Amino acid sequence: MKLVSYAAAGGSRAAALIDGRYIDLNAADPTLPITLKELVALGPEGLTRAAAAAKAGKPLAGDVRLLAPIPDPQKVLCVGLNYADHARESGVEPPPEPVFFCKFPTAVAAHDDVIRLPKQSAQVDYEAELVVVIGRGGRDIPKEKALEHIAGYCPGHDVSARDWQLNKPGKQWLLGKTFDTFAPYGPALTTPDEAGDPHNLKIQLRLNGKTLQDSTTAQLIFKLDELIAYVSQVCTLSPGDVIFTGTPPGVGMARKPQVFLKPGDVAEVEIENLGTLRNKCE
Ligand code: MN
Repeated sequence: MKLVSYAAAGGSRAAALIDGRYIDLNAADPTLPITLKELVALGPEGLTRAAAAAKAGKPLAGDVRLLAPIPDPQKVLCVGLNYADHARESGVEPPPEPVFFCKFPTAVAAHDDVIRLPKQSAQVDYEAELVVVIGRGGRDIPKEKALEHIAGYCPGHDVSARDWQLNKPGKQWLLGKTFDTFAPYGPALTTPDEAGDPHNLKIQLRLNGKTLQDSTTAQLIFKLDELIAYVSQVCTLSPGDVIFTGTPPGVGMARKPQVFLKPGDVAEVEIENLGTLRNKCE
C-alpha cells in the first residue's frame, strides 16, 4: 500500500494511493486517525486497518496537493558515508560505526515542491537516499526487533551545501544540510509488504534526465536494523521520525568537473518499488 499526506482545510490528512486515485482514510473509516503521523503510531495494526478502509473508501474529487508523507516529523535523522564507494569518493575510509547527523523539520519538502537554492551557498549538491519512516517509537530498540518499528519507505533527497558542510570553521555539517527545503521526500510512503526487501532496491538520481547516481541499497554499509538499534541507544524514536540512510557514489562534488545544482534544474530520485521524487530548483 502507498500512503500520502495531502493538504486540507484543517491541516494534513492521510490518504491511500490506489490506481492513481487518493482515498481519504478517516473519511472511509472515522475510527482511523486523521493524520499519517498518528496512523503510523499504531504500528502494523494501523496499517492493516488503513488497507481495509482504502478498499471501502471513495476517491477524493478535484486536485490533491501532496505534502511530504510526514510533513512535520519530530526528528529528521540522517546517516553519512553509508555506501563504501561514496565514502571513498568523499576522501575518507568507510566508517566503523554509523555516522549520524540531522536536519531540522523546517527543511522538509514534498514531491513537486521547489528546492530553494540559497544565495549563501555556491555549492549545493544532490544526494539520492532511501528514507525510512518510523512507526511505533521506542528507545534501546534491539536489532532483532528494529524492522518492526518501520512504517514504510520513501525516496528522499539529502540536498547538501558543500561549502558550508566542509569549508566552514568546525565544519558546519548540520547547517550545510538544513537550509529550508533541503529534505524533500515522497511522494508516498510505501508499506513494508509492498516495498520488498529494503536492502535490495535499485536507487537512482537523475538531473535534467541524466543519470548521475545509479546503485542499489544492497550496498548499504549499515543496514536499517543496525541504524535503528544504534541511534535509539541515544534518543527515543517517535512515530513519524524519518531517517535518511545515506547516498551512493556519483555526487556532484566528486565529479570532474564538479556538478552543482542551478536554478531551473530538475532532480529526480527513483527507488525501485517506491516511486519517483521530483523537485525543481529555484
Ligand atoms: Mn546524505
